[in-house]
Parts: sequence; structure tokens; C-alpha cells
Amino acid sequence: NQSIGVFTSGGDAQGMNAAVRAIVRVGMYIGCKVYYIKEGYQGMVDGGNNIQEATWLSSSNMIHMGGTLIGSARCMDFRERWGRLKAAQNLIQWGITNLIAIGGDGSLTGANCFRQEWPSLVRELFDKALISKEKQAQFSHLNIVGLVGSIDNDFCGTDMTIGVDTALHRILEAVDNIMTTAVSHKRAFVLEIMGRTCGYLALAAGIACEASVIFIPEDPPAGDWRQYLCDNLMEKSKSGESRRTHIVLVAEGAVDREGNPIKCNDVQKVLSDQMKMDVRVTVLGHVQRGGNASAFDRLLGSRMGAEAVLALMDAAPTTPACVICLDGSDIVRVPLLKAVQRTRRVAELMAERKFDEVLQLRGRP
Ligand code: ADP
Repeated sequence: NQSIGVFTSGGDAQGMNAAVRAIVRVGMYIGCKVYYIKEGYQGMVDGGNNIQEATWLSSSNMIHMGGTLIGSARCMDFRERWGRLKAAQNLIQWGITNLIAIGGDGSLTGANCFRQEWPSLVRELFDKALISKEKQAQFSHLNIVGLVGSIDNDFCGTDMTIGVDTALHRILEAVDNIMTTAVSHKRAFVLEIMGRTCGYLALAAGIACEASVIFIPEDPPAGDWRQYLCDNLMEKSKSGESRRTHIVLVAEGAVDREGNPIKCNDVQKVLSDQMKMDVRVTVLGHVQRGGNASAFDRLLGSRMGAEAVLALMDAAPTTPACVICLDGSDIVRVPLLKAVQRTRRVAELMAERKFDEVLQLRGRP
């Protein structure tokens, strides 16, 4: 008879709905009440209609949909203590002692802060006479489990985050579509691929679509990138067979060795000025985050959601918060703090351009 609250936060990703569905179904199956907390942390802070008890039927007909049906938001209020105090008061009002956060590293960092701060928030609510002594005792612990929903695959500790596979499908569909016109007109195409500081999408998509050159943030070419680009395309036509088209993928965070951004328009200029190519640029943008979830993401979301509920039920007050990860083909629990710290460290190393260390840290749990 425990209560679980589930929310999605930060950027949406395909497969989040599958995770929510599994959390509702597995939670109810084992006798818990499950609550949707709508609009991410904002809904937790605002309370009211944002917190609604889930029913079996309310989680039907959602597994295929992209995005997140319970809404997501960035929330400044939750970054402030007063916001988290209001959130704590709402959770206590609804009797929620278990939370499942589905989001990126920002959302999970927030969840970790919230859990660490929880005892002092409850004490303050009691001191301000906003909750009773009994409630203070009853709600002395908050259990938190995280799931990573992000198309970027930028979280340390898991091989894949929820949404990556579908985003790759969207990218490949777009490249396949572009190829027909590219080949017809003997045109080169330069595509900007999402991923913030993580080049996974560009690299994986590049392999799968036979890209001629891929620029990713983690592995800038040695020397001048313009020369590298031209040399590579020259090499490809050395055999004498001339290709009708080239695809160049540029991750949105791609940089050169000095940390200067490599942008699609600059790549276009090099190809047209130096290689005399007819070149077009396409920025795929939010198309990559759209559309129905792939089979893989539906299964990943379902498996991670189910495991999250079981992890909450296993947790004692002293158990550190965990994040549900994919290790090879296994679903595993990784300490949330460790995974978040490692992810933050990677961001620092990226800023310092220590790429070898980044690649080492990004490995498995
Ligand atoms: P993502 O989860 O996709 O990385 P953000 O970094 O924007 O997205 O984080 C989503 C939300 O999580 C923020 O709008 C904020 O409400 C909350 N959050 C992020 N970091 C913290 C933090 N250090 N403390 C409290 N809340 C945070």
C-alpha cells in the first residue's frame, strides 16, 4: 500500500511513455498506488491538478507515442529551496514517499539534491506547522529512482538511454530521403545532428548511413579540419570511380582541436569553394526527437520502468538512490550519485578538451 509518484522532466524522448506505462502497471500489480506528477518538477511544486492517481486504463494506448504524455518542463522554482519545500509539502499531502524521475542528467541531479535535502525539508514543514508530528515521522524518508530519458546518449553508467534508438531511426529516415535527391542532382549534403556535447548520434548514424565524413565533439580531427575534410573526400574518389553524392554529418557540439565550433555552413563553404561541389545544408532539429517510439525504446522503457518499481520496493532508508541502466543486454541498478558525478565530470573534461579521458569515463558502469 505504498504510493509512487512518476514524472518526466527536462527534454522529452521517445520511449518515456513506455516507461510511465510500465511503472503504473507494475506498481498497481504489486499493490501500490501510482500518481502521475504532470509537467515535471513544476507540477510537483504547483500541486493541485498536476498530481493525479493513475488508473490501469489511463496508461493504455500510450506505449507507441513519442514525447511524454504527462508533460515535461524546465522548472526554475525547483532550483530554489522554497520551491523544493512546496514540492515536499505536496508529496506529503498526497502520501507519496517513492519517486521515479525520468529525465536527463539535470533532472536526476535535481532528484538527488531533493533526496539529500528531504529530512531538513520535512523538519522545516513541521517547524512552520505545515505538517503534523505524525506526518513528520511517517514521511522521514523519500526513496528516489532515476531513469534516463534522453536522445543524446550522454549519461555515464548506461549503454543506452531511452530515446536514442528512435532518434537514430529518425535520422536515418531523413538521410535516406535526402539521398534520393542528392544522388539525382550529384549534390553533397551536410547535416547537423543533435547531441549537445555527445557525438553518439552523429557517429552511430554516420556508420549506418555510409557518411563520408563525421565530425563529433569527442574526436576532433588532428590539424586543420578543413584539410581533413578535403583529404578524406579526395581519398574517396582516388579509386577513379566518382561518387554522385557525399553525406557529411556534423554533431551540433562538434569542435576543432582548439575548441572552435565546426558548423554546417562552414563545412558547406569548404566543400563548395575548395572541392567545387554543389552542397546543401539540412538541420534536422527536433524531427529527431519526434514521432513514434521504436520497438527497442518501447522495450527499453518498459524494462527500465518495471525495474524502477522493484528497486523502490527493495530500498531501505539507508539505500542510496539508484538509476536504472542498461549494461550490455542486462538492466542494472547503478548508484545515482556516482553516475551523475561521472556525467558531470565528462562535461568538465569536454570543456577542458581532454578527449581521451572522456572516452574512458564514458564506458560501462
Ligand atoms: P535534463 O534533465 O534534460 O538534463 P535540465 O538540465 O534542464 O534537463 O533539468 C531539468 C530540470 O531539473 C530543471 O529545470 C530543474 O527544475 C531541475 N534541476 C536540474 N538541476 C537541478 C539542481 N541542481 N537542483 C535542483 N533542480 C535541478
